[in-house]
Amino acid sequence: MILPEVIREEKVDVLIIGAGAAGVRTAIALHHYNISCKLVTKREFGDAHTIMASGGINASLGSLDQEDNWGIHAADTLREGHFLNDPKIVEHVCKFAPEAVKELDKWGCPFNKTDANSINQRFFGAQSFRRTCFVGDRTGKAILDTLVSKAKSLKIPCQDGVYIFHILKAKGRVVGALGLDKKKGDFIHFKSSCVVLAAGGYASIYERSSSRKDENLGDTIHLSYHAGAKLMDMEMVQFHPTGMTAPESYIGKLVTEAVRGEGGFLFNNNGDRFMTEYSPEKKELDARDEVARAIAKEIEMGNGTEEGGVYLDITHKDADFIKARLPKMYNRFLALGVDMSKEAIQVAPTCHYSMGGAEVDLQSGATNVPGLFAVGEAISGMHGANRLGGNSLIETLVLGNSFGQKIAETFEFLEDKENTGEVKKQANEYLQNIIGCEDPGVFIQKIKKLMWNHAGIIRKETYLRKGLEELEALKAEIKGCAKPISKLSVDLIWQNLDLRNVVLSSELVLKTALYRKESRGAHYREDYPRTEEDWKKNILVYMGKDGRFQLETKLPGPVSEEVEKALQSNYSLSYHQLE
Ligand SMILES: Cc1cc2nc3c(=O)[nH]c(=O)nc-3n(C[C@H](O)[C@H](O)[C@H](O)COP(=O)(O)OP(=O)(O)OC[C@H]3O[C@@H](n4cnc5c(N)ncnc54)[C@H](O)[C@@H]3O)c2cc1C
Repeated sequence: MILPEVIREEKVDVLIIGAGAAGVRTAIALHHYNISCKLVTKREFGDAHTIMASGGINASLGSLDQEDNWGIHAADTLREGHFLNDPKIVEHVCKFAPEAVKELDKWGCPFNKTDANSINQRFFGAQSFRRTCFVGDRTGKAILDTLVSKAKSLKIPCQDGVYIFHILKAKGRVVGALGLDKKKGDFIHFKSSCVVLAAGGYASIYERSSSRKDENLGDTIHLSYHAGAKLMDMEMVQFHPTGMTAPESYIGKLVTEAVRGEGGFLFNNNGDRFMTEYSPEKKELDARDEVARAIAKEIEMGNGTEEGGVYLDITHKDADFIKARLPKMYNRFLALGVDMSKEAIQVAPTCHYSMGGAEVDLQSGATNVPGLFAVGEAISGMHGANRLGGNSLIETLVLGNSFGQKIAETFEFLEDKENTGEVKKQANEYLQNIIGCEDPGVFIQKIKKLMWNHAGIIRKETYLRKGLEELEALKAEIKGCAKPISKLSVDLIWQNLDLRNVVLSSELVLKTALYRKESRGAHYREDYPRTEEDWKKNILVYMGKDGRFQLETKLPGPVSEEVEKALQSNYSLSYHQLE
């Protein structure tokens, strides 16, 4: 039993929701410019989803391939994003990527080094050069550890175990947020002059996902949509070609792209290296959407393995090389009784990343709602219709730094009178109206299955409409059994908040996927298999002033001359190097 009213109030200049790489890097930048902030996170400080990233982080350092430069990195990113990316965001991130990685190295991130002591770089799919810096196959963990220890040394506060579930506004502007404290079992009203959403993505709304089950459920989407912010590219969800196929609790977990980057081959159950047919030049290192669709087709044609996947084989490489370059993968499979230096592993596609999110201004991360900012996987713009592997970590660092700086420069302290009795009343009314059911977990599972079946790798109108129908029926069922949250335990309230996020994110993916009548990048429509020039536009969704769903489109901006030159030059990796 929990009282549905605000028990505690906390004042903070800038509230950052999320302590992954994006949130923590933003906090460090704000601190540098003397703006105080507080991070809040659902898990413990240091245990954000960022730690799942294994393969690496992109920056055109040219440690091994000296011809590489930021323009070619940007060209690769735009090509992989099928030109739905915001070219300005792409150019900014690629330009400042080398600086961001070197800074992290200086702060103690233990990057793998070459014999000449430069940061080592590996191949990653669909990139023109070896550009992906790495810390074995635990790059995300090493990066977050480095950022968290930096933040701790600067005494930046982080409150963990807190679920932010509503953004508070007064006179059209953000004035704080409402949170549920799991340990104390009460509600907190954070009063703040500005809120930064760094709460990650929505890749976990699918049954098979490389995300941890209770993360990436679309918190950012619910928070921003209900605050009135515009969301962009919601239909663009990346399916990674290689997820695990067994045992049950491991299904969907990522087998890093680095296994193919380091030389792994894909075989079907007949022993055919099928990527030589689907993509004769790039083979296993083609873009993620191409490889994922090829595997899905092989499985559909009956060429799959007994676990419903295909084989990924790196046994032709030396065992010591595999252990040194892919230690996490090697040890994970070994613990499950498979020595990947001696036998092939089985893999199948899994939902991996959400390219959609809040639409923000490149300069500052500002959304269209005054006082509300966003950064990291929470935003759209960098990846367009498909994300280039290794580009998400670098986005969190570069934009965390530059958005933090800009937020600090334009920061306006809100007088307390703007954030007093009225807002508290509004917060309590909101709490009293939240309802929840006794078995949110069951509904979440049903929706994840529905999304996998109806809005997955291969989409078409009939599937998507069926998905929406089933979702509407589930919404009615949830409403029918819901009761006031005062009758539920803290755990159940927490899970019901997850359910709200999953419902809304799924609905927005289904509606936008239905609206986009073409195939582009990760969005493949069997009924509209071609990429159409007329559809080179972003779909935006938001809640209109009347509280109803709104949809509009916009054209991505122009590409700069420098990047256009790189696009025309058509650099490409010499694929024979990978044999
Ligand atoms: C298995 C896997 C491997 C990957 N490998 C790579 C890779 O090799 N290279 C690469 O570039 N990218 C990779 N990615 C993607 C990359 O890891 C993420 O996109 C990136 O780390 C996101 O960072 P973030 O800070 O935006 O969000 P996250 O790290 O997801 O952090 C979100 C934070 O928000 C908090 N939060 C969420 N909701 C709430 C709420 N309602 N209230 C309070 N707090 C909340 C969470 O607790 C967490 O602290 C990988 C992703 C996965 C799943």
